Amino acid sequence: MFGLIGHLTNLEHAIRVAEKLGYSQYANEGFEFWCSAPPVLLERFEVKSVTGEVIQGCYIESCFLPEMLDSRRIKTAIRKILNAMALAQKHNIHITALGGFSSIIFEEFNLKENKQVRNVELDFQRFTTGNTHTAYIICRQIELASAKLGIDLDKATVAVCGATGDIGSAVCRWLNQKTQVGDLLLIARNRERLENLQSDLGRGKIMSLDTALPLADIVVWVASMPKGLQLSPDIFKKPCLLIDGGYPKNLASKIEHPDIKVLNGGIVEHSLDINWTIMEIVEMEIPSRQMFACFAEAMLLDFEKWHTNFSWGRNQITVEKMEKIGKASLKHGFQPLLTFAS
Ligand code: NDP
Repeated sequence: MFGLIGHLTNLEHAIRVAEKLGYSQYANEGFEFWCSAPPVLLERFEVKSVTGEVIQGCYIESCFLPEMLDSRRIKTAIRKILNAMALAQKHNIHITALGGFSSIIFEEFNLKENKQVRNVELDFQRFTTGNTHTAYIICRQIELASAKLGIDLDKATVAVCGATGDIGSAVCRWLNQKTQVGDLLLIARNRERLENLQSDLGRGKIMSLDTALPLADIVVWVASMPKGLQLSPDIFKKPCLLIDGGYPKNLASKIEHPDIKVLNGGIVEHSLDINWTIMEIVEMEIPSRQMFACFAEAMLLDFEKWHTNFSWGRNQITVEKMEKIGKASLKHGFQPLLTFAS
């Protein structure tokens, strides 16, 4: 059995979802209510592989909201993630993906030191960040969408916003070793981590967002921003491809311009329908088939019976591991999303 730990994108989204799921009494509650709400096992479902194998899974809503990353609420955010993990373990789930900010909070606040959650001693082998599959899918989206748009990757300038992160650094490694892109622009806030990445890669130009965007043929957004950026289409090179892999999205609003193609990054489409409501809640275009690649990683680990924390720790993702999970992804019927949002 596999598990998925997720969260909603903001308080407004949480209120909308509570209403939709018939919890109208919660829809009238404010932020304080969400701070005190415990995790909930929201639904159970099964997933079929194209090989014919069927696995059982469930979704746990952590009730964490990105607004809790405000410094006064960090302890609440941490409690939400640890409680959701303890709930997954109590249900004896073999492998659970820590979606969106769950894994970021785990790493950022070094939660491996917090093994004991009341009467549950967390076994970290049962959890995966899902970031290896996410990074692999984003790289395939870069390759396949570029081919679709006639962008020559050999000559293309690719900007990675969030380059020093777990997913961003893996994407940079792949672009450096496998795809071979013309120029690689590295964007993040911490200069020292950027310099370390540049030295590990042996290439890449460190740039601010404002300097990089007008130069980039492809922009990969994988920054851990609790709220998306409001950007004007004027700042981008045209034509260009924007791959937004953030959750919540790094781009706050839809960018509508005929020469700017936007792709939801780190999203996979399964070949067979799944009877669940969770992807409707997070507003996927085709909720019965589309999902976050990190969630799909838990499914792949369960299909393959690799019941281990395949993706764990920060900046440890290798190209070899991306290839390995990529093979499993294809075998079980998952494809990178290639339909442009605009
Ligand atoms: P990490 O915390 O490991 O890395 C985040 C990166 O973003 C760092 O390089 C950080 O560097 C940078 N960053 C943060 N804020 C800013 C900012 N304001 N401007 C520029 N850079 C910034 O995160 P992950 O790699 O684990 O996740 C990245 C994103 O992907 C998140 O939004 C996450 O929710 C999403 N995600 C999507 C999944 C999917 O299945 N589609 C799965 C898992 C995650 P610095 O702090 O120095 O700025």
